[in-house]
Amino acid sequence: MRHTYNPYKNVIDVMEKAMKLGNIDTSMFEILKNPQRETKVYLPVEMDDGSVRVFEGYRVQHSNIRGPFKGGIRFHQNCDLDEVKALAAWMTLKCAVADLPYGGAKGGIQVDPSTLSERELRALTRRYTFAIAPIIGADTDIPAPDVNTNFQTMAWVLDTYSQLKGHPCPGVVTGKPIELGGSKGRNSATGRGVVISTKLILALDGRPLEGTSVAIQGMGNVGANAARIFYHRKAKIVALSDISGGIYCEGGLDADAVSAFLEQGNVMIKDYNAEGVVHISNEEVLTCKCDVLVPAALENQITADNAAKLNCSYVVEAANGPTTEEADQILDARGITLLPDIFANSGGVIVSYFEWVQNIQELTWDRDQVNEMLEKLMSRSFQNILEEKEAHHCSYRMAAYIVALKKLVYAEKLKGIFP
Ligand code: GLU
Repeated sequence: MRHTYNPYKNVIDVMEKAMKLGNIDTSMFEILKNPQRETKVYLPVEMDDGSVRVFEGYRVQHSNIRGPFKGGIRFHQNCDLDEVKALAAWMTLKCAVADLPYGGAKGGIQVDPSTLSERELRALTRRYTFAIAPIIGADTDIPAPDVNTNFQTMAWVLDTYSQLKGHPCPGVVTGKPIELGGSKGRNSATGRGVVISTKLILALDGRPLEGTSVAIQGMGNVGANAARIFYHRKAKIVALSDISGGIYCEGGLDADAVSAFLEQGNVMIKDYNAEGVVHISNEEVLTCKCDVLVPAALENQITADNAAKLNCSYVVEAANGPTTEEADQILDARGITLLPDIFANSGGVIVSYFEWVQNIQELTWDRDQVNEMLEKLMSRSFQNILEEKEAHHCSYRMAAYIVALKKLVYAEKLKGIFP
């Protein structure tokens, strides 16, 4: 879907609202409103049939006030500069909420990777890395996976960058294979963080995760891992979807069976059949009756058009920017509690940080240690958000933005403006 709204305007508007609500000094807002650097690159690739195609790529570095730029790289046919700018700003806020010593960035290539062969994809990834190599590095800007990229993509980025430097540079990317310096627990970290945040919000209302019904839109890395972990913690997954459509089962879906089915390759959710399973549309996944709705696909999914139709008590944003500002207000008025992306999906970048720390110190941590630290860090940032929420009688989104913006403005003031 092409964007009918401007995601960058959305994030800036929400920032402005939060600054007013939190009585945050706005003198530094002009700085935060603009990214520090936008890079656009044109990437020629020799295709398998001998033709030459040129793809457009981006890396937007929003802020490094609190530490090196950090954020993923996505491959998507609708990716454009405005989207990447918004995603970069969200990374700055996300890292500040989690209190990681990072700023925010994001990268992307306008391409549908499913139309490329593996060789073409590798060539495109290497050419993109070559093009942005002057501005990335373990202490400057550290990419990671995002939509349609994974540990294999990161292995190619790492190798290209290391070849250019003449030595292995494991700290230049996170989300890489464990064999190349990746961290245990990173692959499932975003999904795990989504489950942790759901558990925290339910606990506040005195509700257990066990038996809670959950609908998940999207079966990429985040949606699939969240589904698996929810299922193993005895939540009831009532609906799942991918780009082909959705499935619903009132008695609960077997998330392991669905994942195993999808892993065969060349099949989609629309091909899945089991007892009690009915096929529904993607839109119906968003509006089906459940306790917790987890949008885990792309931006701009819960909008003014469908917010009034949601049939859940909680929305936990696993994707970045799935809910528009207008929809936020509708959900608020309807008493639906929403945990915002910059907190709910921060598990990925938190474990990215653990991976980077292990690389720099040349250490390896075990999985339990990683998962335990992730839970501790997310619980701490949830407490910080709760404090702001109580102080300002506002939504979780506003409270999370206030937590982040206070830190960013404070850091900006300490540093002052160069020269
Ligand atoms: N792409 C993920 C996100 O949006 C992870 C970023 C990272 O690990 O740097 O949070």
